[in-house]
Amino acid sequence: MDTLIINEGDNTFLVPTEIVGELMEVTLNNGNYSCECNKLTPWENECDHIKQVINNKMDYIPESDTAFEMADIDRLLLRVKAIDEIEQDITTSSQEQLRSIKLWTEIRMSRLNKQRDYYLVYLKAYLESKNKRTEKLVNGTISLRKLQPQLIIEDEEKVLSQGEFVRTKSVTSIDKKSIRNSIKATGVLPDGIDLVEQADKLSYKLEN
Ligand SMILES: [Zn+2]
Repeated sequence: MDTLIINEGDNTFLVPTEIVGELMEVTLNNGNYSCECNKLTPWENECDHIKQVINNKMDYIPESDTAFEMADIDRLLLRVKAIDEIEQDITTSSQEQLRSIKLWTEIRMSRLNKQRDYYLVYLKAYLESKNKRTEKLVNGTISLRKLQPQLIIEDEEKVLSQGEFVRTKSVTSIDKKSIRNSIKATGVLPDGIDLVEQADKLSYKLEN
């Protein structure tokens, strides 16, 4: 198994940490390594991240103008694979965290709502017992507000089929496919459109 250290160029290396998806940046300046975690452990000269970079020095990627052999290129593809895997880990981890933040928010909000409702019952009962619509207090004003009768859609299909109580949203957007087809067919660029040649894009498919 190759190391997952990512060479960012300019003597910068990204080293995986024990936390999934988290990378430490190790930089090499005038022969001295420094790691962004150093601020956390100033008493150590070489943190584990720097040690990993030094131990894997053989894996440094040569200058970009070097002619590569197939084996080198394959090794670089392995690095791309490592980056893909870290990216996947970050995505998974962030989705998990978003889920738990959402759950935490819902639980906290629902508890607070319950607490507030508890007091509001007394405020409402006060106005009703005094037969008042509103009352100004030191900390604010409380009042009773008339609500419209609640509208309940019992049978959505029935309401829709009458056709009277519906609205249709229409969205206008640019159809790029039809622009391409038109240019292909007529050779003419429509107003407001330009075509710029692009360099070939490399794609890769990894073996498991
Ligand atoms: Zn470090």
